[in-house]
Amino acid sequence: MMIPTVKLNNGVEMPQLGYGVFQVPNDETAAAVTQALDAGYRSIDTAAAYQNEAGVGQALAASGIDRGDLFITTKLWNADQGYDSTLKAFDTSLSSLGLEYVDLYLIHWPTPARDLYADSWRALEKLYADGRVRAIGVSNFQPDHLDRLSGITPAVNQVELHPYLQQNAVRTYGRDFGIRTEAWSPLAKGGALLSEPVIETLAKEYDRTPAQIVLRWHLQLGNIVIPKSVTPSRIRENLDVFGFTLTDDAITAINTLERAERTGPDPDTFNAA
Ligand code: NDP
Repeated sequence: MMIPTVKLNNGVEMPQLGYGVFQVPNDETAAAVTQALDAGYRSIDTAAAYQNEAGVGQALAASGIDRGDLFITTKLWNADQGYDSTLKAFDTSLSSLGLEYVDLYLIHWPTPARDLYADSWRALEKLYADGRVRAIGVSNFQPDHLDRLSGITPAVNQVELHPYLQQNAVRTYGRDFGIRTEAWSPLAKGGALLSEPVIETLAKEYDRTPAQIVLRWHLQLGNIVIPKSVTPSRIRENLDVFGFTLTDDAITAINTLERAERTGPDPDTFNAA
C-alpha cells in the first residue's frame, strides 16, 4: 500500500494520511500502533499531553521498520511553553519515544493568554537548526496567531477540520504562505457526521463506508489527515481510500455541510495547563 506524500515547505515529504493516538491509554498504545504499522500506516501523530509517547516508542522499536520510513509527530504541551522549557520538554518527549529525532514537532495550542508562543517558536527553530526535528509547525493556530510568528514559516498547521468545520480562513492562509493544513478529528470523532444523509448517499453510490467518503474529501482538498481508531477493521478501512475519486459534484455536496461546529476547544480561549 503506497500512501501519497505531500511536500512540506522545507522539502520534507510527509505522508498525507497518518494514524492519531489521542485518548489511547499508554498501555494500549503499543498494540494499537502495531496494528496500524502492520496495516501500512507509517505516520504516527502523538503529543506529550496524550501521555502515550512511550507506548508509541515501544511499537516503533518492535516493528523493525527503518526509522527513515517512519514519520513521527509529537507536540509541545501548553504548560511547557517558553524558550527553555520548550527545549526541556522536547528532550523528555524524545526520550519517551526512544528516538533520536522527530519528523515534525508542533506547538500544541497557541494559548493566547499565556503569550509565550513566539518564545516557544524560537525554541522550535533552534531544535530545527540543530537537526533534532525534520520540520516544525503549529497546531490550533488561527491566522492572527500565525501573523505573530517571525523567522521560519511553520511547515504545518494542525487544526480541527471536517465537513462540519471546514476552516476556510485557515486553509486559505496556509495556501498563501506555504503552510500545509493537517486535519485533526477528520471524522468529527466518528459521530453524527458519519450518518449525515449526504455522506450516506455518497457511501452507497461509491460502495464505500461513510468514513472513507469523508477521508477522501479531505485528501482531494489537499488536507493531511490523521484518523484515530483502535478497532482493527476501521484501522484498515481508514487506509483504504486511495482506490477511488469523488467527483467535483460530490465534493461540492459535502462542502454544503459546513456549520462552523467544533468538537473541541476554541483556540482563542483555550488556555489550559
Ligand atoms: P477522529 O475524527 O479521528 O475520530 C475518532 C473516532 O471515530 C473514534 O471514536 C473511532 O472509534 C471512530 N472511528 C474511527 N474510524 C472510524 C470508522 N471508519 N467508522 C466509524 N467510526 C470510526 O477523532 P480524533 O479526535 O481522535 O482525531 C484524530 C487524531 O487527531 C487524534 O488521535 C490526534 O492524533 C489528533 N488530534 C489533535 C488535536 C490537537 O489539538 N492538535 C486534538 C484532537 C485530536 P474507535 O477508536 O472506537 O474505532
